[in-house]
Amino acid sequence: MKILVTGAAGYIGSHTALRLIEQGHQVVALDNLVYGHRDVLTTLGIKDYYIGDIGDPNLLRRIFQEHRFEAVMHFSAFAYVGESVTKPDIYYNNNVVRTVTLLDRCVEAGVKAFVFSSTCATYGMARSDRISEDHPQNPINPYGQSKLMVEHILRDYERAYDLRHVILRYFNAAGADPKARIGERHDPETHLIPLVLDAALGRRDSIKIFGTDYDTPDGTCIRDYIHVNDLAQAHILGLEQAINQNASAIYNLGNGNGYSVKEVIETCREVSGRPIQTEATERRAGDPPVLVAAADKARKQLGWQPEFADLESIVTHAWRFHESHFA
Ligand code: UDP
Repeated sequence: MKILVTGAAGYIGSHTALRLIEQGHQVVALDNLVYGHRDVLTTLGIKDYYIGDIGDPNLLRRIFQEHRFEAVMHFSAFAYVGESVTKPDIYYNNNVVRTVTLLDRCVEAGVKAFVFSSTCATYGMARSDRISEDHPQNPINPYGQSKLMVEHILRDYERAYDLRHVILRYFNAAGADPKARIGERHDPETHLIPLVLDAALGRRDSIKIFGTDYDTPDGTCIRDYIHVNDLAQAHILGLEQAINQNASAIYNLGNGNGYSVKEVIETCREVSGRPIQTEATERRAGDPPVLVAAADKARKQLGWQPEFADLESIVTHAWRFHESHFA
């Protein structure tokens, strides 16, 4: 299939693009390089790429004239929860308004399926320890709200224009290409695993633990970490199913296993063999104590089998990339 991948120079977009290419699909990339990295496109060997914005109608017109896509995978988004609270305008503008511009071109060009990166942040405060797809969606920040808005828009576009969608609600994406060709390179970095690995490398003195008084076994927050390659594979399976069955679907993507912040740090110590200093600090605003996916639906309906479901493999691959890239 020929697929337009927006955000292909970013973290999850690049790992999915790599897997698409390895499975024989043709990838055309679109990235404005605000958070993506140009060298990633070179590493992936993508020749057909456009540096520009999903909100630029002239550029989109050109791309859709030059290529005929069966599907669009849409990863471009701003994804800093804290920033979304202080600057909601750029989140609604980028994540919602510009996505509508992209969707309109997809409809005009007769694209069959649209794969959308959504998030467990659309659920808001968890009412149960394992969150399934039918859990109420009440986002507590503009980032989650912007993703939920697009979910609603996709449903309306399906009804009105027959555009099929696959909505994937990620839990905590982590890890890297096992061969360390690409990995996680956010700037600024806010995610736990790369920050802990920074401490292991000596790029920071210590890692702050945001809250040690939660009602969890060791007092720290529990999250469901999912390997970025397993996320990537779920995108491909979801897309194939949407096209083969001519139907839309929504899936949670997580392993269904929760690990605490302290467990993550301990695993990073074991994998890296380095000492890692920690500092217990206040809770971070907006952090629910436990977020774990009930992801049986993707397993059952897509035959999705996470390959690296254990935290050690996830951290091993993250460390391999981190060490080779940042040491
Ligand atoms: N966390 C932490 N110290 C950090 C960064 C994150 O203790 O420097 C905690 C954070 O409070 C959360 C977990 O690690 O409980 C995962 O956070 P991350 O930002 O990686 O992902 P999120 O769950 O916010 O999507």
